[in-house]
Amino acid sequence: MRGKCNAAPVANGVISVGDAWVDDGEIGNVPALANGVYAGRVIIEAARKNDFSEEALKPAKDFITKKFLTALAQNKKSKLLCTKFNEEELKQMFLFMQHMDYPVMMFGSSTQRGLMLTHFMMKNFFRFFKHPRIARSMF
Ligand SMILES: Cc1cc2nc3c(=O)[nH]c(=O)nc-3n(C[C@H](O)[C@H](O)[C@H](O)COP(=O)(O)OP(=O)(O)OC[C@H]3O[C@@H](n4cnc5c(N)ncnc54)[C@H](O)[C@@H]3O)c2cc1C
Repeated sequence: MRGKCNAAPVANGVISVGDAWVDDGEIGNVPALANGVYAGRVIIEAARKNDFSEEALKPAKDFITKKFLTALAQNKKSKLLCTKFNEEELKQMFLFMQHMDYPVMMFGSSTQRGLMLTHFMMKNFFRFFKHPRIARSMF
């Protein structure tokens, strides 16, 4: 079901929003809210025209961009890291990741993402040398 939602989040009279359409079932709090607001605007427009057909609701699909799917795929990969690391390494990984801004990673412009990643690299500069195994797993 989730796989199908991922491919077709809009149908006649229905829009799949938030975790419901994500194939591994987790979009994150901020993206879920943004997705809801986006779909809400499409629904208001559909209500104004009293047309809830798939065609009328289609603009809701525009929320799911290629960049967004790539970010979700990266996020999915990082969730599996806990199966590779021991407890101490996991703690270290959280210290790395505290400087990652997920909403910017998923929705930011190239400039915003560039600035955020520069900040991430600078803040983690010494950790990259101290924990090369964790650093390698992130790229
Ligand atoms: C343990 C855990 C930790 C997480 N930590 C983070 C985090 O730190 N940061 C982050 O960004 N994200 C985190 N997430 C992910 C985040 O919680 C979800 O991505 C987000 O809540 C999705 O929002 P949503 O509105 O799509 O779905 P939900 O928040 O799941 O809302 C769906 C709602 O629909 C209701 N519902 C279901 N079926 C029906 C029905 N038939 N009729 C009426 N109501 C129904 C449910 O009860 C629920 O209230 C975490 C998730 C989990 C499980």
